[in-house]
Amino acid sequence: MNFELSSEQIMFQRAVRDFCEGELKPYAAEVDKTGTLHWEAIQKMPALGLTGLQIPEEYGGMGGDSVLAAIAIEEMGRVCGSTALSVSAHNGLCCGPLIRWGTKTQKEKYLPLLASGKHLGALALTEPNAGSDLANALTSAVRQGDQWVVTGTKAWITNPQFAPVIVTFTRTNKEAGTRGFSMLLIEPDMPGVTLHPPEKKMGLKGSPTQMISYDGVAVPADNLLGEEGRGFHQVMSTLDGGRISIGALSVGLAQGAFEEAVKYAQQRRAFGQAIAQHQAIQFMIADAALEIEAARLLVMRAAWLRDQGKPFTKEAAMAKLFASEVAERVCFNALQIHGSYGYSAEFPVERMYRDQRLMSIGEGTSQIQRMVIARRTLAEMH
Ligand SMILES: Cc1cc2nc3c(=O)[nH]c(=O)nc-3n(C[C@H](O)[C@H](O)[C@H](O)COP(=O)(O)OP(=O)(O)OC[C@H]3O[C@@H](n4cnc5c(N)ncnc54)[C@H](O)[C@@H]3O)c2cc1C
Repeated sequence: MNFELSSEQIMFQRAVRDFCEGELKPYAAEVDKTGTLHWEAIQKMPALGLTGLQIPEEYGGMGGDSVLAAIAIEEMGRVCGSTALSVSAHNGLCCGPLIRWGTKTQKEKYLPLLASGKHLGALALTEPNAGSDLANALTSAVRQGDQWVVTGTKAWITNPQFAPVIVTFTRTNKEAGTRGFSMLLIEPDMPGVTLHPPEKKMGLKGSPTQMISYDGVAVPADNLLGEEGRGFHQVMSTLDGGRISIGALSVGLAQGAFEEAVKYAQQRRAFGQAIAQHQAIQFMIADAALEIEAARLLVMRAAWLRDQGKPFTKEAAMAKLFASEVAERVCFNALQIHGSYGYSAEFPVERMYRDQRLMSIGEGTSQIQRMVIARRTLAEMH
């Protein structure tokens, strides 16, 4: 058993950290305030492979594995939650299914664009009336000759305004239950697609979250991703991978808030000494150090299992559930350690506290993660 990163992984981590410190951190407050990502930084990402983390080199990516992707997303999350969420959705939710199920023609068309640093991809699953319960999604695709005609509404979708392609979860057979869904590759400028203005959110404000209407959109039959009727299975499998990424992002947010809290606790004085000398503050620091370490281990284990081709559904759910709840506690306490200053937008912990709140909701709520873990555990122990 080896708990250490390899020298290549450490080099990559250092390079990503330097990039994040120089290109993302100085703009994170502005990204939050203006609700706009810092595209100058995203355009520089291809040089490090950050927009093509798992895209094969032949299509312009770095061809990394899940561990490398987790390292990168954690580092981005440590400094800018909005950028990390948009890149995480781009990598795991849009590029992931295309890499896995795309035909050569589909990959040649979209992957180089997605790796280019000019776009960020999107996956549209959620609907106004179906989030956790995706088997009740209503967006329909009806086959007419050599095209699919798509009608419906998606809600809460990350990145569509930047996407050259929106991987869209549609119902292609009303009678077939969970075997009646398929994934279609839909371009935002196809006639009948409307992207609505970004939602006004509590946090992650730079990462656009939009509603999408599909009004009789004619999609070429060749834009079917993978097999017809396999969409539900594809989505569940894609979300397993996405959960590792949200776990890594949660660890990053917790790590960033933790570092801010430790720095502040060593500077701020109360009752004649630095507040870091008070035991109550030390206990918060100790708990955060412990929980971040444990969360990171769970995330890395799930990523490693995936890279080994082993089952990782339960482990990804555990990693996401634990890491997101750790992010909540650590960011809460980091703000507490800052006292009133933590409540001020002048200090980054205020933003991090708001940003982390999504982590126990997106890509499967904590309740859904517990359902996944319980089902797998009960089946294993039957
Ligand atoms: C910033 C942001 C970005 C997002 N990005 C994307 C994206 O890129 N693509 C995409 O498709 N979606 C995206 N989403 C949507 C997100 O994945 C869903 O909102 C999430 O899965 C929860 O669905 P819901 O909001 O419909 O909640 P619901 O499913 O309505 O759940 C409401 C509450 O009921 C609980 N609940 C539901 N069912 C059960 C049950 N069986 N047992 C116990 N409790 C239950 C839930 O845990 C939750 O607490 C995003 C959302 C946000 C806020």
